[in-house]
Order: sequence, then C-alpha cells, then structure tokens
Amino acid sequence: MCRNQTPTRADESSFAEGDFGISWFSDGMLNVSANCVDRHLETRGDQAAIIWEPDDPEEPARRFTYRQLHEEVCRFAHVLKGAGVGRGDRVTLYLPMIPEAAFAMLACARIGAIHSVVFGGFSPEALAGRISDCDSRIVITADEGRRGGRIVPLKRNVDAAAALAPGLERVIVVRATGGDVAMDPARDAYYDELAAEVSADCPAEAMAAEDPLFLLYTSGSTGKPKGVLHSTGGYLLWAAMTFDLAFDHRPGEVFWSSADVGWVTGHSYIVYGPLANGGTTLMFEGVPNWPTPSRIWEVVDRHRVTTLYTAPTALRSLMKEGDEHVTRTSRASLRLMGTVGEPINPEAWRWYHEVVGEGRCPIVDTWWQTETGGHMITPLPGATDLKPGAATKPFFGVEPLLVDGNGVAVEGEGEGNLCIARSWPGQARTVWGDHERFFQTYFTTYPGLYFTGDGCRRDADGDYWITGRVDDVINVSGHRMGTAEVESALVLHEAVAEAAVVGFPHDIKGQGIYAYVTLNSGEEATDELRQALVKWVRSEIGPIATPDVIQFAPGLPKTRSGKIMRRILRKIAEGEVSPQALGDISTLAEPAIVEELIRNRAR
Ligand code: ATP
Ligand code: MG
Repeated sequence: MCRNQTPTRADESSFAEGDFGISWFSDGMLNVSANCVDRHLETRGDQAAIIWEPDDPEEPARRFTYRQLHEEVCRFAHVLKGAGVGRGDRVTLYLPMIPEAAFAMLACARIGAIHSVVFGGFSPEALAGRISDCDSRIVITADEGRRGGRIVPLKRNVDAAAALAPGLERVIVVRATGGDVAMDPARDAYYDELAAEVSADCPAEAMAAEDPLFLLYTSGSTGKPKGVLHSTGGYLLWAAMTFDLAFDHRPGEVFWSSADVGWVTGHSYIVYGPLANGGTTLMFEGVPNWPTPSRIWEVVDRHRVTTLYTAPTALRSLMKEGDEHVTRTSRASLRLMGTVGEPINPEAWRWYHEVVGEGRCPIVDTWWQTETGGHMITPLPGATDLKPGAATKPFFGVEPLLVDGNGVAVEGEGEGNLCIARSWPGQARTVWGDHERFFQTYFTTYPGLYFTGDGCRRDADGDYWITGRVDDVINVSGHRMGTAEVESALVLHEAVAEAAVVGFPHDIKGQGIYAYVTLNSGEEATDELRQALVKWVRSEIGPIATPDVIQFAPGLPKTRSGKIMRRILRKIAEGEVSPQALGDISTLAEPAIVEELIRNRAR
C-alpha cells in the first residue's frame, strides 16, 4: 500500500498578480484511494462503506463493506489501465447514481488519472463540450440510468456526444438496467466483461500532494461552465476535515447526502469526505419525491440515516406537498441535518428543523462552492448558536472579508462582497486549460483577494448571512437589496411555494422589483392574491421592497443541480422574448419552463 509521506511545507500560495499560484503541502505524498479505502481495511474491513438505495423502492438495497469496496476499486483501476489510462489522463464519468460511480472515481484516484464527472442529466451537447474541453479520450457510462421511475438513455447520449467530440476513442459501459443498447465493437466494451478478467488487487500510485485529483465543471448558474481543478492532498484534507467537524461524524453512523455525484457536493460529501473518515455513506439512485413525497423520509427510516444533507430547493418542493408526508414516517434515527446550494429561506429552515427534525436535530447551513472544495462558512453542531438562514461562522483557517464596491473592507456589522483573504487547502488550483481565466475570474475584481461572487451580511454577533449572488443584487432608488430577502418574505406567505426575484430597468427607481412566484398545490393565481402578496412584502420588509411586478409561474428555470437561474429571469423581466438571446442554457433543466414564462410575461 502507498504510505502517506508527511510534508515539510504547508501554505505556499499567493493571490497577487505576478506571483500568483496556489500550493499546499507541496512535498507531501499520498494516494487518495489508499486513504479512503486501504487505510480502513485492518480496522473496519467488514463495516459498510457504501449503502446503495435503488430508484425503485421495491428493489433490495445493496451494501459494500470496505473490503468489497477495495476489490471493486482495484478491478476498476485495472480495467482503466487496460484501456490505456495512465497518470494525468482525463477520464469522463457519465453515470447514474450507482455504486460504480464511486468505484470509478476512486479507481481514477488510485492510478493517478483525473476524473471529470458529468451529471447524468446533461444533454449530449453539454457532455460533448465537457469531453472536448479537457481532451478526454475515454468515457465511462452505463447502458441506462433510472431516476424517479424514468429511464435516462445514457449510452445513447454518449453515442450522440461522440459525434460531436472527435477525440473520444473508448467507451466503457456499466450494465445498470440491462437495457439493450448499440455497441460499437471498435470503441465500446461492457465493464463487467473486462472486470471479470482482471485481478482484485491493484497497488495505488504514489502521488504528490499537488497532483490534480479531479476536474469538475461548475453548475452554470452564472455563465459558461468552468472546469475547476482540484488537488490531491489539500482537497482530501479539506473534504475529510470539514466532513468530520461540520457533520460531527461518529463511527458507525450512516451519512446521506442527497446530491448527485455529478456535483461537488457528491464528490466531497458522498465519496471523499465520508470514506476518508471511515464512515458509511448512502448513495441514492432516485429523487426525493418519487414515488411519493415521503420517499426521502422512508429512505432515512429504511437505512437508519443519522445525518441528512440536502438542498433548499428539495426542501421547498417537499414542503409544498404538506406535512403529512413527513409525519407519517419515523425519522427517529436522525441526529443532524445539513443544507447547501442556495440561501435557505428562514421559513424552509424552520420547517426542516421543526417538522422534519422535530426540533431535535441541529441544522448546519453550509456555505461553499465548487471552487472551495468543501465547507467555508458553517456552524459546528453543538458549538455554534444556530440562526435560521445564517451560515454563521467561518471554518478553521478561513478568513472571510466583506468589501465594498471599491474593495475597502467593511468592519464589524455590515454588508458587502464576500471575499476570502488567504488560501485554504481545499481551494481549486486552476480552471482546466485556462489558468489566466482562473486568475481573471476570481482574483482581479478585488486584487489580492479571492472573490466568491456572493454578497454577504455580517451581524452584530459576527455571524455571516449569504444574501445571494452579487450579480443578483438589486438597486431600488439607491437602496441595495439582496434578492434572497425579498424571496424569503414571499415564501413566508402561506400561498407561496417558491419565489425568484430580479431587478428590471425602471424609469424612476433605477431598478424595479420583478417577482416570479410559484404557488402551493391547490392555491389559485388571482389578482387579489397578487395584491395581497405586494402588501405582504411591504409589511414584512418595508415599502422599499414593494414588488413592481408579480408573475405567477408554474415553475422556475433551474440548473440541473436545482438552483434558480436568475440571469434568465432577469432577461425575461427586461423584456427579452427570444430564447436564443438568453445566454448559455446548456445546464438548464427544463427549457419548456422558460418558453412558458416568456409567453406569460406580466408586463
Ligand atoms: P456557476 O459558478 O457555474 O455559476 P454555481 O455557482 O451555482 O455555478 P456551485 O459551485 O455549485 O455552482 O455553487 C456555489 C454557489 O451556491 C455559491 O457561490 C452560493 O451562491 C450558493 N450557495 C451554496 N451554498 C450556500 C449556502 N449555504 N447559502 C447560500 N448560498 C449558497
Ligand atoms: Mg459559482
């Protein structure tokens, strides 16, 4: 087994132009797969490493002990090697939420290859763009995926992507559903056939701490996706340590992050964080509300999940279906719950805390980004006083700074652009193939600082409240307002399930407030309700926040990771009526929603 070699150097990073670069533990050596798998064999070889819950609740779950995981990862590593993959090569994974996704990631790490996981919900075009961007010659996929009772034609999508990505030479197909798919004998092979012929032991490569571990394209809420590159040593440390402390990990517990492995949350908190800690991680193939809105809680009960990590968007959609879907389940195993992805509206926070957790489970609202590798601002359960809607305090070693438009730091209580003043181990090292774009995107807005793109408020207790993306701030008659605040007020109203607020040009105020509102099941979209909502926001926040326009919307445009794409809503509010003019929409989940919004514009 590859042994860890302790570094003598730690932080050698600089955010300054001319001297720019991020580096941690540069002379350390390790292998991530050995740390997540082999290291546990002696002490907990027979403990479950991965529990897999299939899409269909009628099917049995599967468990993999650390010993079985070791075998699976080794076989996968040999198959990759057999396909010509070596150190530094990029391997694209386009897989459903099946255990093989984790095996493949760890197998790449084992042989020093760089994985690029592309969410299985992406189109052939989006997949092809991500294959070509990093010159990946190989794709690992499955015949088909299953999500919420529907079949996702993954192999067919890869075939379509291959036509657009000429560099693609090899496709390895995991048999997930057994569905009949076209195979090109010169290019494609079934994984199980290859795996049957290789050894179940494969030594792990010794990697330098600064060698790349994976690249991952950001979810695309704000523009063209960037291939963010993460390191071996710093990333693993950050994923492991934040998992341990923010989730107060205890041996024998079952941790469930309901994210997809296609997002950074899946990387850090389904695979690397839990496994580096010798934990048991639950992987769920399906969606939280299928076949019924109780599914998520049934899975909790079935596997006695102790810690649940999910997103505000999932909570809001479950909340609108009514409490009875929650209260008919037990949830007695839950001890702690987390949220990530967007600012959580206090209303949703309280529902999570009171209805789901019965007031018993602390909630960790974790703020972080693909680029940060792991949690940056988060409560530590038991140690931090919680506030609904606040990410609370910076994690160890994180130095947040709020700056005004001129880059001047705001001291004490106040609001500003959220920057981080110095490097942390989990920080992304570059954008794949475009180091200059990395520097330009994150380090030039406020020279010498990492700019997150998010706005933030610090209260009198020193707690941090993310107010949304800075691009989403609206300026009404000279008053700057985060969209999150107005949205939270709307969601507080009993008729409202979800709301998205954007600014639009207004002759008198500079910017007006345009609110898209989705109603709870059974509520009717009437003019009276519209007026009631306007009044409601006035009284909740004040006249300055009065919405100028309210458009009732059956749904909101979201990224495939479930985040509201406000930049599209902004265009529509500004009067843009051509879907072509909306910018990069490759990560948009349901394009039909956008057409519907344009058709029914409220002005
Ligand atoms: P892109 O960078 O491509 O536009 P993205 O920013 O949505 O996409 P991610 O890295 O997945 O991609 O998301 C990070 C962003 O999500 C943060 O910058 C922040 O805006 C939001 N976010 C994440 N967690 C929280 C949280 N707990 N509270 C508030 N906002 C959060
Ligand atoms: Mg981002």
